Amino acid sequence: MSNADALAGLAAEASGCTACGLAPTRTNVVFGAGTVDARLMFVGEAPGRDEDLRGEPFVGRAGQLLASLIDEIGLTRDDVYIANVLKCRPPGNRDPRVDEIDACKGYLRSQIDLVDPEVVMTLGNFATRLLLRTETGITRLRGTIYPWWRGMLVPTFHPAAVLRDPARTEEIRADFALAKKVLDGELDRSGAQAFS
Ligand code: URA
Repeated sequence: MSNADALAGLAAEASGCTACGLAPTRTNVVFGAGTVDARLMFVGEAPGRDEDLRGEPFVGRAGQLLASLIDEIGLTRDDVYIANVLKCRPPGNRDPRVDEIDACKGYLRSQIDLVDPEVVMTLGNFATRLLLRTETGITRLRGTIYPWWRGMLVPTFHPAAVLRDPARTEEIRADFALAKKVLDGELDRSGAQAFS
């Protein structure tokens, strides 16, 4: 089976998921979007209202900012893969709960395994803490690259946090530029921060 078929099969399985308490309140499962051939993958937090209604990640205001940042590094949404830690919307956009993350993280692990990106950009605290297995906050972790699994991880702010605090715009741009340097072969593991 191709990785594309495996990813489609996983999406179909997730569409009926009842592993946590978010199943009864969701409109759609927001599994992920983009190409299985992506060299760059994004991991956000959880679907919001717009995403829940459309069944697609990052289609609201934060998604528009994400799309413009992707465009600035010479790519489009079709070139990348976009997923979230949680596949279902927490009511009222509250923070994801530990039991929900535990129930859902197997899907994300499989998505990363099948897409096998060279760079993963984590957007905000929830994705960064889950993938780097740390309690350290995004403000301290961002601004550098970390060797991670088969590639590199570049943590950055969540685009919604940048919309709330536009002073962070230059920092998120700088993080996208770091990801581009890795993709362009200008930065490799030797320039990365050891993470422990
Ligand atoms: N915020 C997220 O973390 N993910 C989305 O898909 C939309 C907003």
